[in-house]
Amino acid sequence: GAGVAGSTFAFELSRRARAAGVPAPRVELFEMGRAPGGRASTRRTREFPTFAADHGAPFFHASDLNVLALLQRLQQISPPAVEPFHRAEIVDVRATRSTATTTWVTTSRSAKCKEGSSAQANDVSGSSFVGRPTMAGLCEQMVKSSGATTRFQTVVRRVEWQANECVWELGGGDSGLEPLGAFDVLCVASATPAHTRWSSVFGGEPPVVRAAELLKTPNPALEEALRKISAVKAKPVLALVLAFDGAAASAWNALPWTVAEVHGDDVLGRVIIGRHGAAQGLISLVLHSTHEFAMHHASAGYGRGSAAERIGGASKGCSDAREQVEQSLLESLARVGVPAWVRAEHASRDSAVYGPLMHRWGGALPERPALTHSAAVIPALKLVFAGDYVGEEVSAKGEELSFVERALSSGLHAAGSASEMLRWQKNSAL
Ligand SMILES: Cc1cc2nc3c(=O)[nH]c(=O)nc-3n(C[C@H](O)[C@H](O)[C@H](O)COP(=O)(O)OP(=O)(O)OC[C@H]3O[C@@H](n4cnc5c(N)ncnc54)[C@H](O)[C@@H]3O)c2cc1C
Repeated sequence: GAGVAGSTFAFELSRRARAAGVPAPRVELFEMGRAPGGRASTRRTREFPTFAADHGAPFFHASDLNVLALLQRLQQISPPAVEPFHRAEIVDVRATRSTATTTWVTTSRSAKCKEGSSAQANDVSGSSFVGRPTMAGLCEQMVKSSGATTRFQTVVRRVEWQANECVWELGGGDSGLEPLGAFDVLCVASATPAHTRWSSVFGGEPPVVRAAELLKTPNPALEEALRKISAVKAKPVLALVLAFDGAAASAWNALPWTVAEVHGDDVLGRVIIGRHGAAQGLISLVLHSTHEFAMHHASAGYGRGSAAERIGGASKGCSDAREQVEQSLLESLARVGVPAWVRAEHASRDSAVYGPLMHRWGGALPERPALTHSAAVIPALKLVFAGDYVGEEVSAKGEELSFVERALSSGLHAAGSASEMLRWQKNSAL
């Protein structure tokens, strides 16, 4: 997977090789999507070349020292892969209810900073970040700089440990029998191929579960890891993407924020303004649903163009249910943001030049990490797990780790373990 964790793994492995003065190992990234990014990816369309909408994570927070050091390196590569995301770009939207009416009030987090709230500390340390030029830039730049070979639109359906040769054989295609190569180390940079969710989306047994069953000698550490991964539930989110031009684009572009966190609405969780095409007069809008709303609307499917439907073979979903989802999210936007933000016609589907296009993130946010860093390494099988389902919930400083931060941190740890497995960097410490 070429999400945040897999991309970090590739980037860090090549950095470690350079630092150790050894040739970089050949890294191959298999990704079922069309491009790097995973849940931190950017939606594009051929229709509008300047259109780019961050429809997964729009930004992230980081406090772990190793992750901050990585982010510093990523700001120094050319072109930079990340930049600080200022809290002034985030607003909170809350309902104030009187007996007869509900009013939605938007407050800026930068205003709170001025009052000396705890938000100020985050702002000063500059610890929120965004990918450059879009969220996907974070993964794109790491993959490019790493020199890894990429195989997009490729679903790894079979992973099999060959004990005699001490290699992992990978297979793709519909049956998993199409050879994808043999590798000294396997980094599973997604929970999906090890989770029961795989069976409902792609059918058949999860590839890593199957691999454990095929081992001639059972590996208790792997079995325990698989049990823990499968026990973790992840909350879904529905994303709706639209784009506006003309007066509607100007109205959205004029707002002094990028992300609105909505508190207290049953349907709408977040509104994200995308200004990547602003110079060409195009503004994107991404609406994220609440988890509860996404859970109750599973029949809407994964969305046209999603890797799950396109190549994974997941059910197409019901178009009436998708219409209903689109309608509900747009009605919520009108209720929560209009007229305080823009005029009603500037938030309507009729004035959108692109979309609304729905995408279901079936496992947007894991409820808690499944594996500690040490449980994510199976040295006897030269296997490492990486992703936001690996690591600690809280940093050494006592701060809650963000999801992207966990993915970054686990990619760093996995690369450290892999370099030891490849035996060119003894006693490596992060
Ligand atoms: C709507 C939404 C909002 C979010 N908001 C935030 C936020 O504000 N802050 C924050 O910190 N985090 C947020 N997150 C979470 C964040 O996006 C994720 O934690 C992070 O991107 C996870 O990265 P990852 O590499 O662990 O996994 P993923 O991004 O899931 O990457 C795994 C990759 O592996 C690929 N893959 C899986 N199986 C296979 C296979 N068999 N063959 C080939 N490829 C495969 C997948 O296609 C995917 O690209 C949000 C997520 C969503 C969806």
